[in-house]
This record gives sequence, structure tokens and C-alpha cells, in this order.
Amino acid sequence: MLPMSPYDLLTTHFRIDTLHQKALKRLGITTVYDLLMHLPARYEDVSDIQSVGGLQKDQEAIVFGQLSGLKTRKAWKSKRPISEGYIEDGSAKIKVMWFNQPYMAKMYSDGMYVKLVGKVTGSEGKLYIANPEVEKLDALPVDRHDSIFKGSEITDDTIYPVYRETKGVTSKWFYHTALKCFEKGVLDVLLDPIPETILQKYKLPNLKTALVWIHSPKKAEHAESARKRFAFEEVFYIQVQKALDRAAVSAATTYQVNTDTKHLEAFTSRFPFALTPAQTTAIASIIESFTQNHAMSRLLEGDVGSGKTAVAATTAYAVATSRPPEGRKSNELGVGPLTDLEWGNLQVAYMAPTEILAKQHFESFIEYFKHLPINIGLITGSGCQKFPSKSNPNKPTPISKAQLLKWVKNGEIPILIGTHALIYKSVEFKHLAYIIIDEQHRFGTNQRKALAKKDARIPHLLSMTATPIPRTLALTIYGDLDITLLDQMPQGRKPIITKIIGPGQAASMYEHIRSELEAGRQAYVICPRIEEPDPDKQTALILKSVTAEAQRLGKTEFKNWRLGVLHGKMTPAEKDKVMARFAAHEIDILVATSVVEVGVNVPNATNIIIEGAERFGLSQLHQLRGRVVRGTHQPYCFAVTDSKSEKTKERLKALVSAKNGFELAEYDLTFRGSGELYGAKQSGLSDLGMEAIKNLKLVEAARNEARDLVAHLPFNHTTPDLARHFPLIAERVAKIGESLHME
Ligand code: ADP
Ligand code: MG
Repeated sequence: MLPMSPYDLLTTHFRIDTLHQKALKRLGITTVYDLLMHLPARYEDVSDIQSVGGLQKDQEAIVFGQLSGLKTRKAWKSKRPISEGYIEDGSAKIKVMWFNQPYMAKMYSDGMYVKLVGKVTGSEGKLYIANPEVEKLDALPVDRHDSIFKGSEITDDTIYPVYRETKGVTSKWFYHTALKCFEKGVLDVLLDPIPETILQKYKLPNLKTALVWIHSPKKAEHAESARKRFAFEEVFYIQVQKALDRAAVSAATTYQVNTDTKHLEAFTSRFPFALTPAQTTAIASIIESFTQNHAMSRLLEGDVGSGKTAVAATTAYAVATSRPPEGRKSNELGVGPLTDLEWGNLQVAYMAPTEILAKQHFESFIEYFKHLPINIGLITGSGCQKFPSKSNPNKPTPISKAQLLKWVKNGEIPILIGTHALIYKSVEFKHLAYIIIDEQHRFGTNQRKALAKKDARIPHLLSMTATPIPRTLALTIYGDLDITLLDQMPQGRKPIITKIIGPGQAASMYEHIRSELEAGRQAYVICPRIEEPDPDKQTALILKSVTAEAQRLGKTEFKNWRLGVLHGKMTPAEKDKVMARFAAHEIDILVATSVVEVGVNVPNATNIIIEGAERFGLSQLHQLRGRVVRGTHQPYCFAVTDSKSEKTKERLKALVSAKNGFELAEYDLTFRGSGELYGAKQSGLSDLGMEAIKNLKLVEAARNEARDLVAHLPFNHTTPDLARHFPLIAERVAKIGESLHME
């Protein structure tokens, strides 16, 4: 018989009914290779596990089993509430009791698989586990020798893989099926996509070894080493994709921009402030990129208020005062004189995520470009404007969309600011040389080309974000971009005063907010949920919902103030309307979910209360409080938590001490994992890849190797020919691209 091929359908070799086939498909598993690459999520070390039947009084118990008979009752004498039930593991059943924790019986339910850690107490024959910690499991660990719950002799095999499961397909099945695939010889025909030299350089196991080690490790180090290899591999493929993108951009021609420093200094000297050193460096890096003969791809990361708009405006000015090559050439050749109208200048498209933000950028640009003979257009879903107006050189004027589009097309408007309306088919530029985008994480190469339309030249790209993400994640998801940090705040800003409000400390906070409202300020109240509050399963804390909290506050703490509500389930138009009313100070207090995090500027809103702060990542809390650091008044942030846990308080304290958002993002990554990090979801990384993000060396290695590999590839027309020279890598990269596009 032929050996099993990794490309074979699983059903060719295993009997799997249609129900389970469907379940597997949901996990993206159809072939043998898919199955082998369904890696264990974690391992259980069974040498620590005791069987329920063998438990003795005063023992510190770690048991796995199924819950039953859960209920709450009152203690006989003291009337204190007790939750109780049983845990059963096949060897025996033992009672479990939680004193003063009536919610435990509600948080868990009969039939659930759990791991319990707690002390065995009671008297002989009436033993029970007291106040155990509970960890919910999707399933019990694989019983590799079918006896782990029977107190059998200890063998070497104590590490058991636990897989992400799906309806009816258990860890046990994944484990045994992987082993059967090994037996059927699949490892002998598997080819390793990663070049031997790379594996050796980083001491990574080859594919064959890694698969054995990851599915059936004899030692924890083996599993660790195998995971490292697969993590490296995943980040490597992403980096190859990014390097290919980058190579494609580099191969295309772009526009040359006037980068005369005197010219730019004349522009920035008009600002009512001096640039921060970070702004100066950022501008210099962008201008330096403009001198290259391929298009820039750059990410500008800076906290809210770090002054990204000034960087955008200055570099936009450099572009908007530059001539397209045809114009120059004609003049040089003496074909001219060509009028401005005939050639126009190079053009800039500045895209914002919302209409309000687009308008704000438009207004900022008007300030920066006042008195200069440069037209600026605004295009949004609800209308268009042009600056300056004919009648007033300091004011914009509404114009028709048709008129605006005409002027953009003939080059008379060199700077166009807008929402997504910018990338509509109808918008055509004459010489689009520079795209600036604000907080749009998904702006890819294709959108960039779409904006450039038929233009053979690829525009320079500056992507700006206030999203604090750790360096490793930035290197991965923005692997095709150069990264510039704006890590300094303009001088003279009042640093935000952040207070952590524990249980029972809210009164003084409300007192403070009321005095701020009296003084004419406004406030945000951020709640973690939209609908009715419900007991949170994990912590049993009552979460405040936006609607309920707004009602409560309106009746109590803020009886005489105007409250508004904003949440993610409202339509964009509804949201815009509420924000506009808040901006116009028709609303004093905006009770909202975290949707307000996108950079809207209401300088008079200088207070923010964040309820359930323990639920948010630090970087998200940081971004939320960024809403109130825009004005000239002293800003305040109140992070409210009902949690009594010292760890939680410790973590929240970092908000008070950290210097910037990047520091907090790193902190999040170290202490909470990457799950809730910004950009984590968009990255398309698997759980294992997410783990890899904690390892800067690994990410840098994968990135360097990927760039190196792509840099040495011969070209096929305009793109490096990966498919021909590394077909296996090309296959994996294509697959990753697919899953990214599926979102
Ligand atoms: P970001 O977009 O990075 O959040 P903005 O560009 O909107 O920040 O700038 C925030 C505010 O800071 C604006 O009012 C701007 O005029 C001001 N600003 C920008 N740079 C400086 C600077 N170097 N010194 C003082 N104020 C500045
Ligand atoms: Mg901004």
C-alpha cells in the first residue's frame, strides 16, 4: 500500500461520519496535513493529578472530573450561604463546598468538566474539598493509557495534549488520529518548507521531529521546542507575505517630491508652537523617504495628542507644492510655459475613519494652511467643501460633489480630505502622490492601488495610529511598513490625573465630576456593556450597562445634568448625531461603550469615568482616557473597579505610572497575553502565533529571514518569483493570505 500522503483527505483513511466531518471542517480540517497542523492548545501534566478515589484528609488536591448536584443552601446555624456539589472522575465521587460563595453554584453547571484545586477536609467517610479554585475545561485530558483516573503506576508519559475541540470531536480523537497518521508513514513523505539552514541557525526541529514532539511529547522541553518551530514558521510566512508586498511596491515607480528643507521650515515656522523633537524626526524620515525612487510605506504611531496632524500637514505641504514630472520636463524642454492649471501640483488624499474626524482634520488643515494659495477639499457622505472660499480667504465653502470631483480630477485641488467616500470609483485624481490614513488598520496594498486608479505610479503611504501595540505585533502586522514613533508629548500639556476607584470610593468621584460640570466641563462615562447588566460569569461582578447606568445616573448622581447615550449598536448616523450634540455641549455627560475610543476631539470633555476597568486591557484604558487630554483644562480619568483582587489593583496602577501607551501595551502582552491587544484579531495569527508575539527575538528572526529570502529571489515580471523557487513556502503563504481575506 502507498504511504499516506499529507494531501489525502482524512476520510480516505479514517471512518468519519458526516456530522463529525462537518465539525472538523469548521476547524478548517479536511486533509491529513490539516489534522497534523491542528496543534494542541496546551498540555496537562498528569503526574500532578490525583484520582478522587485516592484523596486523603488534609491533602492539597488537584483533580479533574465532572460536576454534579450543584446547589446553594444556607448553613444550618450561621445561615451563611453555601454552594455545594460533587466532582466525579471515574474512580470515585467527592463532595465539594464553597462557603460564602452562593454564586459558585450558578456560575458552573452539572455535567461541566473542571479542574479543581483545593484542600481535602472533613472527617473520614465524609470528606469534601473546601473552597476549591475552579477551572472550566472543554474536556478532560487525554487518557493515554486509559488509566489516569484509576491511580495507576506513574509512567514517563505524563504530559497529555489538549486540543481545541469541536462538536463531538475530542482531544482523545485528535491525539489518537495523529498517532495513526504517524504509523501510516505520513512523516516519511512530508517535506519541510523551511530551509535547513534556517532551522540550524535557530536550532529549530525539522517538521517531522516537530510534529512528533508536539503531538506526543515525552518531555516538556520537546513540546516547547516544537511549538517554537511552528510559531516561527507562522510568523515567517506572514513576514514573507509582507516582504513580497513591499517588493511589489518598491518595484513600481512613484512621484518625486520637493524636499527642500528651507521650504518646509518656512511652513512649520508659521505654526503657533515649536515642533517636538519627535515630530521633527518623523517629518525628516518621511521627507527622506520622498527622495527615494520607490514609494514610501510608513506607519506613524503616536499617542493621542502627540501631534500627528502637524506631521501629516507638513509632509502634505511638501507634496502639494511639488510638480508632477511631466510639468517639470515640459518646462525643462522649453515646451512650456505651462500654467498651473494645465499641470496642477502633486496631490494628497487624507482619509479618516469617520465623518466627524474628517471634518476635524479639514479644520486643522485650514489652520495649518491659512493664507497659502493651496486648495483643500473635503468629501464625506453628507457633503463636500472647499477651502478657501472665493469670498473669504480664511473660510471654507460648501460646494457640490460634481464640482469638487472635477477640480480633483483636473488637479486644482491638491489636498483632498475625506471618509471612505475618497475611494469611491467616481473620485479620480490627476497626480495622486501621497495617501495619509488615520486609524485604518486594514488599508492594504490593493486599496492603495485602487486609490491611484490607472496611474502607473504608486503613491507614498503614511498610515497613522494612536493604537498602542507592542513592538513585536507591530513588526508582524505592519511588517511591510517602516515604523516611526511619536513618543513625546508637546510641552505644556497638563498630564492627566488618573485615579483608581475601588469598591465604596465612588462618592468622592461623583462629587468631583459635579464640580467639573459646574465649572462648565463635560464628562464621559464608559461602561462595558450595552444591555441589561448581568452577572459576569468569570468574576461574578455586576457589570454596568450603558442604558441602565445612564438611567441610574440621570436619577441619582447627575439628576440636573443632560445625559446622552452612545454605543456600538447604534447606526453610524445616530452615533454621529449624538457625538455632534456632545461636541456642541448640548449634552453634559456621555454614557458610552468603548466606541468613543476613536479619536474624536471634544476639548471641553475633560473627565472620564471608566466602569469595570478591570475588564479592559491597559492599552485600551489608555486609549479611552486619551479622549480627555485634548483641551487646555486639567484632565481627569477615574478607573472604577469592584474587584478586590490585589493583582487587579496592581495592574491598574500601571496606568498611573506608565509614560506612554506603548509601555502599557507591552505590559498587557506580558501579563495578560495577546488576546485583547489591538490588532491581534486583524493579524490573522493563530493562538500559537499569538504566543510567539511575546518573543521579540523570534519575531525579529522570522522577519529577517523572510526579508532575506525575498530579497534574493529572482523576479518574474514585476514580482519576486516565490512559487518557482520555494513552492512549499508559496503554498503556505497563499493559504495564510486566504484566511486573512476571509475576515
Ligand atoms: P494626534 O492626532 O496625534 O492625536 P493632533 O495632531 O490632533 O494629535 O494634535 C493635538 C493638539 O496638539 C492640536 O491642538 C495641535 O495643534 C497641538 N500640537 C501639535 N503639535 C504640537 C507641538 N509641537 N506643540 C504644542 N502643541 C502641539
Ligand atoms: Mg489625530
